[in-house]
This record gives sequence, C-alpha cells and structure tokens, in this order.
Amino acid sequence: MNIINDTPQSYAIGIDIGGTSLKCGVVNELGEILFSFLVSLSEAKTEEEIINLIVNAITQCTDQLGEPITGIGIGFPGLIENDVIVGGGVNLPGFEQLPLGKILNDLTGHNIVIDNDANLMGLAEVMYGAAKDSDDAIFLTIGTGIGGAIMIDKKLFGGYKNRGAELGHTVIQQNGIQCACGGRGCLESYASVTALIKYYKSQNTSAEDNIDGKTIIEKYLAGEDHAIKTMQHHFDYLAGGIVNCVNIFSPQKVIIGGGISEAGQFYIDELTQRVKETAIPVSFSNTEIVAATLGNKAGLLGACANAFQKFKKTEYAV
Ligand SMILES: [Zn+2]
Repeated sequence: MNIINDTPQSYAIGIDIGGTSLKCGVVNELGEILFSFLVSLSEAKTEEEIINLIVNAITQCTDQLGEPITGIGIGFPGLIENDVIVGGGVNLPGFEQLPLGKILNDLTGHNIVIDNDANLMGLAEVMYGAAKDSDDAIFLTIGTGIGGAIMIDKKLFGGYKNRGAELGHTVIQQNGIQCACGGRGCLESYASVTALIKYYKSQNTSAEDNIDGKTIIEKYLAGEDHAIKTMQHHFDYLAGGIVNCVNIFSPQKVIIGGGISEAGQFYIDELTQRVKETAIPVSFSNTEIVAATLGNKAGLLGACANAFQKFKKTEYAV
C-alpha cells in the first residue's frame, strides 16, 4: 500500500518578491510548478498598492487552481523575523517593519510564512534540487553579493530571530576589504561576482568597462593570463569560505548557486580540489560540492516548501 498516493494532493502558493517584480505560482508537494507568472511592481508607489498586487496574484492562483491550498510562502530579499519584514535589500515603499504575514492573513484568510530569499533558494535545493537526497546542506549563491543558507534535517536554520546564516559575511581576511555590511574581510568582498570583476580590472587595466563574470570565465577557458590569475584568486577565496562552512557543519552537500555556478563542471571541480586540500579531512569526508539545479525557479519552490513544512500537518508529510 502506498499511503502517500492515497492522500489527496496538496498545493501551496509561492511568491518571490524582488525589487521590480514578483513571481507567483502554484506548486504541489513534489515540487512541480503547476503554473507561474510575473507581476510588475515598478508602477506601484505605495505599500498599499504593492499589497493589493500581491492579493490579486493570490486570488488569480486560487481561482485558476480551484482546489484548497495548504498555505502561502513568500520570499523577500531582506531580514524577516516572524513574518515581519524588518528591512531589505530592495527599496520597495513601506517595506520596513512591515507585518506582511499578518496583513496578508487578514486579507486572504490563508496561512502565510515569509523568509529571506536566499534561505528559500537553499531550502528548495534540499527539498527538490541538488541536495534532495541529503538532510544537512549549506547553500551559497554567488552573485552581486554572496547569500547563504543553512539546512539541518531539511529545515532552515536562521539563528535566533532569523538573524544569522550570513555565510557571505564570514571573515576570511583579517582587516581586509571593507564590506557593505560594515565589516572587513568578508567572503563576499573577495569571492562575489562583483569582487571577481573588480579584481580582473585591477589586473587588466585595458579591460572593457562593462565586462561581466561570464566574459571573464570565457577568457579563462581561452587561457588568457589575467583571467587565469583572477579565477585562481576567486577559487582560492571561495574555497576558503567553503572550508569554514565544512569545518563547522560537516554538511552532506555544499550547493553553489548563482549564474557563475552554471559555468561548467570545471568550476565545481576547482573548488572541490581546494576545499579537499584544506578542510579537516573527517569533516569533509561525507561532503560533496555541487552546482544548484533549480536556477531561477528556486525562490518560488523554496517559498512553497516552507509553506508545506510549516502548515502541512500530516504524519505522511515527506
Ligand atoms: Zn560583510
């Protein structure tokens, strides 16, 4: 007897909020997106207008689905404490000290859970993506900055009041480069794509102004000296940050996300080789470094996974 197949299908609505748009969709418990769509936020001038757009998106989802939902998960690029948006990396009007969870619960009657977007991308990878066969994993998304997430027993660990898991702001260089967080020598300041571009330009003074990470990788693969030096620097520092995570958590997977992780297997291999050389061998012995597999769907899927984890009350829950 397969109990799970005899249980009615469960659905969640996911909303991934960014600075200029939100992505909304319906996901089932297997992590399959039934449908999703984008809503532009660029015309919205007030917090009330943005909330109206969110409520309309939710109604569109429930109407199209025509089935009950377990709850609604929301991802936001900022600090979230108990479903209150404390502050964030995007300047949406009124999105500071905003009890968005309670507001949306009052307006829609649905269960609402909100978390940081990088956290949710990590949760998605451990539920449905690169680490779905693992319980304990670390997620690092390499982009303009470095976002991080810690998953223990397939659940997010965010520290007291959800204020931790800032893996991009672990210090890897004493008294190093000034970081946007106020600290110095953070992993993000050495191993983000922003840092990669900055370092390349410092090596190659005739580099085009708008050079991006993808182009630097292409030059690296083509054997250009400046790009090789830049990528060695990038691998060394990123590996240093990963070693810290491995020695603290001994995760089964270290998942690397962000566009740069799609550069190819060589990227993961270079990191693995370096981490293997310096991590405590027993801490690394069960760890695999892998590229994220969910791409830009991770935020939506993670928001829904969070809703299933919080609101699905069944002994058969996966
Ligand atoms: Zn920092």
